[in-house]
Amino acid sequence: MNDKYISIITNFGCHYTCPYCIVKNNNLNIPKTTINGLDSLWLETVRNQCNWISLSGGGDPLWHYSEHKDWYDKFFEITEDLNRELHTSLPNVPGVPYEAFDRVVYHLHSLEQLYNIKRQNCAIVRVVFVVTENFTEDLINRIAVFCANSDDIDELSFRHMVDNHYQETYYFYEYLKAGHKKLWWYIEQNDYNLYYCQNKVYTEYKNIGR
Ligand code: SF4
Repeated sequence: MNDKYISIITNFGCHYTCPYCIVKNNNLNIPKTTINGLDSLWLETVRNQCNWISLSGGGDPLWHYSEHKDWYDKFFEITEDLNRELHTSLPNVPGVPYEAFDRVVYHLHSLEQLYNIKRQNCAIVRVVFVVTENFTEDLINRIAVFCANSDDIDELSFRHMVDNHYQETYYFYEYLKAGHKKLWWYIEQNDYNLYYCQNKVYTEYKNIGR
């Protein structure tokens, strides 16, 4: 069976400090996350033949984690037999059972943030940088060297940025393509996944909640 992902789009809120945040700038109307919003998750996962569940946002899934433990308890129960992935910008949140995820993906925007990334018993740790106009080739290289030498980080990706009007930007495109599958992965933005949000399934992120 090929891997197929269903991405749960949560909205617990966020710090809204990532410089490329389209959630904040587009006033996306992503519904607030509720426990009842998990009711159709198992059915939709089976119906769509997905073997990976990815937690993402609409906000950061770990925002105010301690207030949402009941939601996580139900999530872990429903997804017991599936592979789990977590997308977050928040490292080392107290109480999070990182070992319950098969992959944790940290979304970062500065070299310094790498210093805070710890494996926390997770099988695979990936870091992703959205490439903005403030990057340089030197910065890209320093990030790559840090990740290659880190025992806490297994995978490094760079992704091109989508602006406030859902248009792709291609800073350092040729440079990043040249290093693809050698020093890093270069991801071109696409709607790769199915999105699940509050019992509904979507195929395009921008349509969630509309
Ligand atoms: S984690 Fe996501 S929602 Fe939060 S500020 Fe960063 S890009 Fe925006």
